Amino acid sequence: MQIADNTVVQFHYTLRDETGEELETSRGGEPTTYLHGADNIIKGLEGALAGKSAGDVFSATVAPQDGYGERKPDREQRVPVKHLMYRGKLKPGMAVHLNTRNGAVPVTVIKAGRHSADIDTNHPMAGRTLTFDIEVVEVREASAEEVAHGHAHGPGGHQH
Ligand code: ZN
Repeated sequence: MQIADNTVVQFHYTLRDETGEELETSRGGEPTTYLHGADNIIKGLEGALAGKSAGDVFSATVAPQDGYGERKPDREQRVPVKHLMYRGKLKPGMAVHLNTRNGAVPVTVIKAGRHSADIDTNHPMAGRTLTFDIEVVEVREASAEEVAHGHAHGPGGHQH
């Protein structure tokens, strides 16, 4: 079965930046599961997966506009340290979470003070050209319920 709208896909990936440095990998853990055609994953990756089948291995390079967007310079702000969630000592360059009314969002620390911190609220992957080394593990037809919900159910998907 080929990946198309209304299929549920499981895949393993290793994500590398422009220099080839590994940023993330699903290998050694559970594969990522998503519903194709429902904006569950970034556009560039979804486009590269379309038409592929279980067992296919390939690499896809995704430009910022098809990934996490361009980096916006006006997304820096000063916030109280108590609104940040992190472990250990707060340091510049650290990826942390900011508590907002809409839940926790990933941000990057620019400067850390005792009570306040300057943070960049761009997505940590914004502005980066990303290369994904993909292995398609499984492709199956989505259930009517999954299509209605706009996400995958079962292992690796939503449990509810
Ligand atoms: Zn659901």
